[in-house]
Order: sequence, then structure tokens, then C-alpha cells
Amino acid sequence: MSHAEGAAHQNSTPEFDVIVVGSGAGALLAAIRASDEGLKPLVIEKADLLGGTSALSGGGIWIPDNHDMPKVGLRDSLEMAYRYVKACAKGLATDDRVLAYVETARHMARYFLDYPWRNKTRRDRNMTGGQALIGSLLTALRKRNIPLWLETPLQSLITDNGRVTGVVVLKEGRALQIMAQQAVILGAGGFERNQAMREQYLPQPTDQAWTATPPGANTGDAIRAGAEAGAQLHLMAHSWGVPTMMVPKEEKFRPMFVERSLPGCMVVNAQGKRFLNESGPYPEFQQAMFANHQATGGAVPAWIVFDATFRANYPIGPLMPAAAVPDSRLRKSWLNQVYWKGESLEELAAQIGVDAHGLKESAARMTEFARTGKDLEFDRGGNVFDRYYGDIHVKPNPNLAPIAKGPFYAMKLFPGDIGTKGGLLTDRDARVLDDAGKVIPGLYCIGNNSASVMGPAYPGAGSTLGPAMTFAYRAISDIKGQPIPLERTDLLESKL
Ligand code: FAD
Repeated sequence: MSHAEGAAHQNSTPEFDVIVVGSGAGALLAAIRASDEGLKPLVIEKADLLGGTSALSGGGIWIPDNHDMPKVGLRDSLEMAYRYVKACAKGLATDDRVLAYVETARHMARYFLDYPWRNKTRRDRNMTGGQALIGSLLTALRKRNIPLWLETPLQSLITDNGRVTGVVVLKEGRALQIMAQQAVILGAGGFERNQAMREQYLPQPTDQAWTATPPGANTGDAIRAGAEAGAQLHLMAHSWGVPTMMVPKEEKFRPMFVERSLPGCMVVNAQGKRFLNESGPYPEFQQAMFANHQATGGAVPAWIVFDATFRANYPIGPLMPAAAVPDSRLRKSWLNQVYWKGESLEELAAQIGVDAHGLKESAARMTEFARTGKDLEFDRGGNVFDRYYGDIHVKPNPNLAPIAKGPFYAMKLFPGDIGTKGGLLTDRDARVLDDAGKVIPGLYCIGNNSASVMGPAYPGAGSTLGPAMTFAYRAISDIKGQPIPLERTDLLESKL
């Protein structure tokens, strides 16, 4: 049976061994390793640019117990990493898959380091972050003459007796069948740009505009295609949550990772009340917005409020510190779109439609917490994670300063994301499983196209790119008929 049957205007092309769908970091690594293993890969990409969200990311890759750690005096172990991820995954990822990730990540990293890390450009000599990551992968792709077809979206999978044997793509306006001798690897990202899927699966309210990923691309096409081929879907209600904000004329919302941790700001709902630890991990921040909105109806959007001292010293969103760029030099159009301003808290509250009494009370309480160093409501600054993004010059708590000096400012925050994390259920070799838990032959899935190995959690920086690249690495070994065995199977039997 073919999902391609009946598609109009189809042509056939020469066969490839492996067809990789998408061109994020995991997808490109899969194509490169496939080539190094003597396979003939093809990469197809929907957009007119390659790299997807991976190219815009920080490029952080989490490699547990990696070879660089001892050089800087850090200790880690497979066992600690395994126990940590297993605890975070809360039973929503299988133990052997968690173990496969923590064990194989360092082998993948060693392999990855075998080709150039920092790609130089004429514009600024060196690229960093996600651009460097994708740049180096592109360099490796080109050295191997691996074909990459841009503007070639996957439409559906071709199956034959339950085995995935190829793809149907749209190329230059025509449906085209491409056959894969060995496997199709789906790495076409999540569904964060698909409003209907967001409404079907994610917590409400939800809006595709709130995501910080590139517009238009990740609309869950390959999740849908995989499901049509019988794949089981998992973790569909979860996203890599982060508060985001809108800046006019920018094509996507900006994530707010850091600024909310700096001292002298607080986040309030329409009642003017704080409802979370502003410095906490960003997915927890997003979840707290949904929870409070359900309870009060006033946390979407929420408001980050800060005073003149904060504004003078720190950047926030697109605003550079006032010491460098005073309000008079900010874009006029940003006032009441990007930031709101009032000489007093009452004036600010009236402008943003927040309860003035609640806002004043919250600011007074924060000012008192800053004096004692103890946030009695949400324990902001009470752990090493919070303090990491604080200001070490501020005492006694690097995350707390008075919110007392006018003028006062506010910015609007939405419960956004940097991608969704639900998708096709896979095993430890990235093989896609059907509703009965059986492998669908010929079909592999990585990155946000697949259900995350981290379950509902965001255990640390690099939790999306690390697994995407690691499972890409494992998939190729499996396709070659040499699956990577697990080393520490004893851990699977041990209790947490
Ligand atoms: P993408 O990288 O988005 O790639 C998917 C690709 O598939 C896209 O190019 C898309 O165009 C293509 N595609 C979609 N549909 C089709 C189709 N039908 N046919 C063909 N191609 C298709 N994560 C980390 O681990 N570390 C970080 O430091 C980090 N920093 C981040 C910073 C920011 C600002 C953002 C926004 C995200 C960050 N993330 C980080 C998250 C991370 O970037 C994503 O989770 C990750 O890139 C997802 O990888 P992916 O390959 O699944 O998807």
C-alpha cells in the first residue's frame, strides 16, 4: 500500500539509501554519518534556507560526562547523568532510551569534533552558537558532496507491506516520489507553527505567533506523515516552553531567557500579583503562566515590571541599559508596544490595565525581600540555578533588588516556546514505533519530530540538540545493521 498512490503528477528519481527530511543539526549529522558509513544520503528541506531552529539557537549541546569536563575540573558520570535524566523524564521516556542517550552522546561528540568547529565568514570572521553549529555541519556536508534540496517539502511517506520505502515531496510545484533503499529519517521539527495542532494538543490559550522559532517551517508535516504511516504519537501536550515577547517588525517573538533573573524586576498578573519565581527554569515559567491563568484569568499575557534602577543598569528585550541608550533614544514606536512607562506605579498600572493596589503591594514586598535577601513567596535566588543569571554585585541576594525608584516600566510576556516536544514515539535507536509498540521498518525519527527523551522536562542547556544529534548518530549505526549496544545495562535494573 502506498500513501503516494493517487498523488497527481508524480515523477520518479534515482534511488538513495537514506532520505533525511529537514536540515536541523540532527538531520545534517545523520546525512554526514550516513555518507561516512558508505551510504548514499539525500537531504530534503522545506524552507529556502537550511538549518531550521537549530541555526538560530544558542548551539548548546548537552553531552553528559564528556571529555572536556575533567580539563576544567568538573566531575560527571554516566550513572549520575542516567539517574538525573530518568528522574526528570518521570517515566515518560523508556529507561533504555535514556541510557542510550547518556552513553552515546560522548561518542557522537568525538565523531563531530573530527571536522571543523568554527566556520569563518567574510562578514565577521567567526560564527558562534547555532550558526557555527550548522555552518560546520554544512562544511562537512559539502566536503562529502551530499545533495541538499531546498524548497522541497515532504508531503507523505511511501510504504510497501508496512515498510517505509520512500517519500513524496513537492518539488517545483510537482509531486515527486523519491525512493530510499534503506531508510527515511524524519527530522522535520515540531508543530509549533501549526495553529490547528496547537489548539488540538497544547495547553490553552495558545498562538503560533508566540513561538520563537522561524515562521512557517515547523508545521508538524512529518508528524502527520508519520502518523498516517501508523506511528504512535507521544508527549503531544508538551513544548519547550519559554516566556516570549513581541518586537514590531521582527519576524518572530523573542524568547526571554535571562533578563527576568536580574534584580529589580518582578512578573505580575492582571491582579498585580506575583505568581512564580521569575528566575526559575524557563519551561517552568511558561507552565506557571498557564496554571495561574487558569486560576485567575490574568496571566496571559503577564507583565514584567521594573524600576528606573533596573532600566539604567540592565538590558531587557530589545532595550539596552538606559546608561547606554536612554529612553529619549529608544524607537518612538516601541512606547506602548514593546514597553510601557509610568512616573508612578499607579500610573503604570493604569496604562497596562493591572490592579494598582496589587501592583504596589507586590513592589513593596519585593523591596523588603531585597533588603533581607529572602523571597518569602517564591524563594527567588534560593538555589544555584537562579543565581547563575543574577548580578553577583547585588547583595545579599543577586536576584533581588528594590522596585522603588520611578519611573517604572512594564513589558508584556506570553507563554511561548522554542519548539514543541511531542511527536513520533521512537526506541533507543530512533526507530519509529507503531501503536502496538512495534518497529515500523525503514522509518527513523529524531529531534522535535520525535517525542523527547527528556519526557516533560527541560533538564538543562542542550537538552534538545544533544539528543537530536545523538539519536541521529545511533540511527545510522542501526541502518548499517550494527546497532550500538548499551554499555551499562546494570543501570537499567537498578532502582533510582
Ligand atoms: P529544526 O532545527 O527546526 O529543523 C527542522 C527543519 O525541518 C527545518 O529546517 C524545517 O524547515 C524543516 N521542515 C519542516 N517541515 C518540513 C517538511 N515537510 N519537509 C522538509 N523539511 C521540513 N536547544 C538546545 O539544545 N540548545 C540551545 O542552546 C538552544 N538554544 C535555543 C535558542 C533559541 C533562541 C531558540 C529559538 C531555540 C533554542 N534551542 C536550543 C532549541 C533548539 O533550537 C530546537 O529545539 C532544535 O533546533 C530543534 O531541532 P530540530 O532538528 O528538531 O528542528
